[in-house]
Amino acid sequence: MGPYHPECPERLTAIADRLIAAGLDVHLTPFEAPAATDEQLRRVHSEAYLDELEAANPESGLHYIDPDTALNPHTLAAARHAAGAAVLATDLVVAGTCRTAFCPVRPPGHHAERRRAMGFCIYNSVAVGARHALEAHGLARVAVVDFDVHHGNGTEDIFTDDPRVLMVSTFQHPLYPYSGFESNAANMVNVPLAAGSGGDEFREAVRERWLPALDAFRPELIYISAGFDAHREDPLAGLNFTESDYAWVTRELCSVAARHARGRVVSLLEGGYSLSALGRSAASHVRELIAS
Ligand SMILES: [Zn+2]
Repeated sequence: MGPYHPECPERLTAIADRLIAAGLDVHLTPFEAPAATDEQLRRVHSEAYLDELEAANPESGLHYIDPDTALNPHTLAAARHAAGAAVLATDLVVAGTCRTAFCPVRPPGHHAERRRAMGFCIYNSVAVGARHALEAHGLARVAVVDFDVHHGNGTEDIFTDDPRVLMVSTFQHPLYPYSGFESNAANMVNVPLAAGSGGDEFREAVRERWLPALDAFRPELIYISAGFDAHREDPLAGLNFTESDYAWVTRELCSVAARHARGRVVSLLEGGYSLSALGRSAASHVRELIAS
């Protein structure tokens, strides 16, 4: 995304380092993310949008789609592999090869709408995974859970009124992208949190709003848009979550998955821009995915 941009390659190193430091790497099976195919991307993005991106792909330097979302010559390939990670993870958990999967991918995806890139996001990876579960594997119902500090406007745009998908989310409001607080669609359970909210407010939202909706919906697979930028140390926002909140919510979601989805959870990295807090939070999240 250019120099000094918070969505930087070091984010993935920070996570990998913490997984090693926490002794978790020995419990993980690594897989190489394949590139998502055109057919898989077309399940969530319009043909015109995908063509526009290919046409904008620069041979050198940066092409700015908006002031904070850029393409370099490798971005589209990286984004295709990020979406492909969601596809492979879906294949693995549906086949029973893995019970849970964590995809530490860049760029993130949850702001990418059907026809628009924005907010560092190009392809909506979690949506590509969810539609793959529905259309390639024939699942009837999947849930998308989003605890990134920013509202997942792209995921909402893609799945609004798709009765096969339930989206539950929390996000700081008001904050970029200034959406989600007036959703009317029956399959969207969005809970805005005021600046300064911490674990107590988050856990209340999960207990009061998410869990009843998830249990009523009975998803056959749970996707997590795992952004860790609601952490108290994150420089881009003003919520006060800690590692223990991420561990707690992961346990709760794994319990829902155990009740309805044979334990199947696919988690994809979204935001998280304090490198230290990102690494610690992701490790707390992955530890619970392993333990489930
Ligand atoms: Zn975010």
